[in-house]
Amino acid sequence: MTKQVPERKAKSGVLRSPEASENTQLSYQGTYTCPVCRHGQITELTLMDAFACSFCRHIFTANLENQTVQVVDSSQPMSWRWMGRSWQVAYRDELNLTLVIWLVESPLR
Ligand SMILES: [Zn+2]
Repeated sequence: MTKQVPERKAKSGVLRSPEASENTQLSYQGTYTCPVCRHGQITELTLMDAFACSFCRHIFTANLENQTVQVVDSSQPMSWRWMGRSWQVAYRDELNLTLVIWLVESPLR
């Protein structure tokens, strides 16, 4: 009576290695370690120019030209630059601007 639907077998051996030997570019096709929790992996949010973490559920917007991502659902708007194998904290423009102002206002002696 009821049709037997064959169970979906989990394919073995197709898992992407988390430790690629080569440096990778930041792209929406890739999977990257989450820079916030460093535990989950961020993957593309379908139909959005954004990534989401599988573990902490943070959402990131990406700038592929600059190879950076920025967390958008956090009170602290942090951003990171993809260095090929790992993330480097990228400071926001406002902070750089503040630094410049501070340097200008400092007495030069
Ligand atoms: Zn995360």
